[in-house]
Amino acid sequence: MKYVLVVGDGMADYPIPELGNKTPLQAAHKPNMDAVAAKGRNGLLKTVPDDLNPGSDTAILAVLGYDPRRFCTGRGPFEAAARGISLEENDVAFRCNLITEKDGILVDHSAGHITSGESSKLIESLKKTCEKPNEAEFFSGLDYRHFLILRNSPNCHFIECTPPHDVIGAEVVTVLPKAKSVEAEKTVNLLRELIRDSKAVLESHPVNIARVKAGKRPGNMIWPWGGGGKPSMPSFKEKYGLKAAVISAVDLVKGIGIYAGMKIVNVPGATGMYDTNYEGKADAALKALKDNDMVFVHVEAPDEAGHARDCRQKVKTIEDLDKRLLGRILEGLKEPYTIAILPDHPTPIRIGTHTNDPVPFVIYSPSLESDGVQKFDEFSAMHGAFGLVKHEYLMSLLLSSTSRDK
Ligand SMILES: [Zn+2]
Repeated sequence: MKYVLVVGDGMADYPIPELGNKTPLQAAHKPNMDAVAAKGRNGLLKTVPDDLNPGSDTAILAVLGYDPRRFCTGRGPFEAAARGISLEENDVAFRCNLITEKDGILVDHSAGHITSGESSKLIESLKKTCEKPNEAEFFSGLDYRHFLILRNSPNCHFIECTPPHDVIGAEVVTVLPKAKSVEAEKTVNLLRELIRDSKAVLESHPVNIARVKAGKRPGNMIWPWGGGGKPSMPSFKEKYGLKAAVISAVDLVKGIGIYAGMKIVNVPGATGMYDTNYEGKADAALKALKDNDMVFVHVEAPDEAGHARDCRQKVKTIEDLDKRLLGRILEGLKEPYTIAILPDHPTPIRIGTHTNDPVPFVIYSPSLESDGVQKFDEFSAMHGAFGLVKHEYLMSLLLSSTSRDK
């Protein structure tokens, strides 16, 4: 038996007036998802508990069966792992954005989507001037997304950092890192000092002078957030006895895969955006199944459309995923298979960010009886035989769906 897990990031939504009060999943033409829903068994999955932030880190961990309360230390360590940055016990990895600050205001969390070529020079200059060896180290990532590693800093869970995309337009002084206990005060002071010092170094850097001259936003300050220590997770093989591979364009998802001991399959042209290589991902998934028991295919594009609040684009990403990726996988599968399809969380167009609402899911397995649901969407799934399932139990359902014929 081969297992396929397809996650359309942020696919779930609310009814949208422009789509005739349908959700993007209801409005999209998606014969493959609907066929799986009709053949399989459906339900709603509450991936993120109400008291947790519905970040993709939390939601993806839950989908893979890892209790986010135990295994989610922050998104920093997962993303860092995908860039080859390894952590020691007591190290803390922060995502470190290059942001634009102007007159004390946080103007842009992405420094005008600064390029990797430009930002690597800026991070290089920070390494020379602000880095404190064996204490605070900078690592380059992609575009505006970089890393700050604090060495030997065991009190990171007492630090509160604000994701910069949530506070665009805020006064910087009001959203700086805060200590939740006295043990963390020294580390918080170090973070604040690094933020302050970065401004002096970056503002006068030739890369930024050229950007300002060209009418672009400069990457003139660092913004550490999403910090966490090294996650200690059992591997997928230990947990489920399955050898698994992951296909995603997104560092966070690849990093979760690394800590779960999955094989990371990189696909040329997988961008995490609307132009991603859907066919390439499908072909890579079929290939990965030759020497793995399971493949986890993640598509970021619907989430991006949700954040951009573009409902037509969101419908298109769902149709592309259905036709160009899912259809191709289903056609190419020659062995008996069990498949689950779902979003990790909703990213409703109306609000432009993630929510904790339950998401529709379907599991098809040759030994499962169908439940009469005909379509794959938020409302049809309410009538599914699985009902409302909590948090990290999807994987158990997926595996028990096939156990009957053994
Ligand atoms: Zn998102």
